[in-house]
Amino acid sequence: MIAFDFDNTLCLNHESHWEPNKRVLNLLKGLLKQRHPVAIVTARMSPDLSPSFGISEFYDKIYSKKYISVEEFVKKYLNDPIDIYYTNGKYKAATLTRLGVSILIDDNEYERAEAEAVGIATLDPENI
Ligand SMILES: [Mg+2]
Repeated sequence: MIAFDFDNTLCLNHESHWEPNKRVLNLLKGLLKQRHPVAIVTARMSPDLSPSFGISEFYDKIYSKKYISVEEFVKKYLNDPIDIYYTNGKYKAATLTRLGVSILIDDNEYERAEAEAVGIATLDPENI
């Protein structure tokens, strides 16, 4: 399975707005089309647990321009269903191992180092 990080991997967050990372998004779409096992693994809080990142009315008012929820992004840009895993602020290595992930695509250097330490290959989205 190939795991895609969300923030600043699939979705680029700028000072005042966000935009899809087209190169990474196209890679994900291609893999989905080929029915390659893929998932989104984000350290964001699960919407079931927390109002963070555009879920509650309060956050929507403040952040709706700046952030998009992972679910909204998937709805907007992907035609195929994809599993989304939230690590709720924790590093991803344990979740990646549990899911049987072989490659992690993540902008965060520390996440990549932790994944590599448990034998998972990684890719910096900058190099895609
Ligand atoms: Mg990230």
